[in-house]
Amino acid sequence: MKKTITIFGSTGSIGKSTINIIQNSPEKYDVLGLTARHNYKLLAEQAISLNAKYVCIAEEKYLGDLKNLLSGEKIKVLAGVSGLCEIADLGSKLVVAAIVGSAGLLATFKSIQAGSDIALANKESLVCAGKLFINEAKKHRVKLLPTDSEHNAIFQVFEESNRDQIEKITLTASGGPFLNMPIEQLKTVTPEQATKHPNWNMGKKITVDCSNMVNKGLEIIEAHYLFNIPAEQIEVLIHPQSIIHSMVTYKDGSTLAQLGPPDMRTPISYAMDWPKRPEKSLVAKLDLAKIGHLTFQECDIKRFPAVKICKDSLALADDAKIILNAANEIAVENFLENKINYTSITKIIEKMMSSQKISSSNSIEEIIKKDSEYRTKTQEYIDGNNL
Ligand code: NAD
Ligand code: MG
Repeated sequence: MKKTITIFGSTGSIGKSTINIIQNSPEKYDVLGLTARHNYKLLAEQAISLNAKYVCIAEEKYLGDLKNLLSGEKIKVLAGVSGLCEIADLGSKLVVAAIVGSAGLLATFKSIQAGSDIALANKESLVCAGKLFINEAKKHRVKLLPTDSEHNAIFQVFEESNRDQIEKITLTASGGPFLNMPIEQLKTVTPEQATKHPNWNMGKKITVDCSNMVNKGLEIIEAHYLFNIPAEQIEVLIHPQSIIHSMVTYKDGSTLAQLGPPDMRTPISYAMDWPKRPEKSLVAKLDLAKIGHLTFQECDIKRFPAVKICKDSLALADDAKIILNAANEIAVENFLENKINYTSITKIIEKMMSSQKISSSNSIEEIIKKDSEYRTKTQEYIDGNNL
């Protein structure tokens, strides 16, 4: 029987990789919903080619354009947050959560409540609302399938029955394009430079996050919630080739790792076929003899302070992570618009975290409200200072 599937964020990098997998195995999937923020042309093309039942354009002003492109098709066309929620309520067997940023929280949360298993790429959901998401998933007996490459790697080698024997989790990181740039030069980095990753082809926001390793910091938080592992047992290791995607070390001295070429279709298809392993791969097999060398180095906190800021945030009240994420999203947006320096991104995160009274929010509504407030406060701080 075909598996019903919905992709939130189908026009993005993860969304397109997911569609490529579906197009190569059309006998396995029935596409229920596809969504995008504003690229209504691509969304319409995807919906027609995959025979989707529902589409939603998050920015309502494009609803008319999308309807025009889909007139005569048997596709229900929706818009806005209410449209995203309507698609979540369909309760697809599997939802691929691939919206970028905290904008993905509500659709993912509603999908959990509707009983869908979630292939979770949208790490910001767990950063902002980790406890809530994990508890809600338990309550509705849905599986959160780690789709971020590091977490997918850990998921593949994490022996739940030997949880007590786990000594540590190691998240690998390429170190990005500025691993060897003199630290004093970092402030001159331009958006063009920061949106070019040496190994991975991803959306702009996560590419900037990788370059200053805010991404790895967010991934520490993500790993903490997904695997219920304390911060002290999570470490980061620089591995510039991005071949080892992460590792679990057991007390007996064995370290288990997952390796593969840096292509998100491997972790996405693993999540899509779980609990089975995919029967085929769209990614060329790893040729280690050709690669020759895999190298590793420690993560330098002076160069990448965000790793420590994020890790330390796990010891603070829950909302610290909402502040951290909101400050980062707004800072990255401003950097991409050339309004602030590259190195100001991390400074803004630190400033916002140290200047707010931090409490804990327990419902999705409260978390979304706080996110919005902290985004506004961050923008005000940026507007009022020369960064
Ligand atoms: P992207 O920018 O390429 O795509 C984002 C998608 O979200 C698009 O379809 C866009 O239309 C949609 N979107 C953006 N803002 C929205 C809004 N306000 N409302 C509704 N939809 C909105 O991003 P991406 O690289 O595909 O990343 C998606 C998520 O997956 C992120 O959370 C990222 O951290 C995570 N992730 C990505 C990769 C990767 O290789 N790209 C790897 C690991 C994790
Ligand atoms: Mg990752």
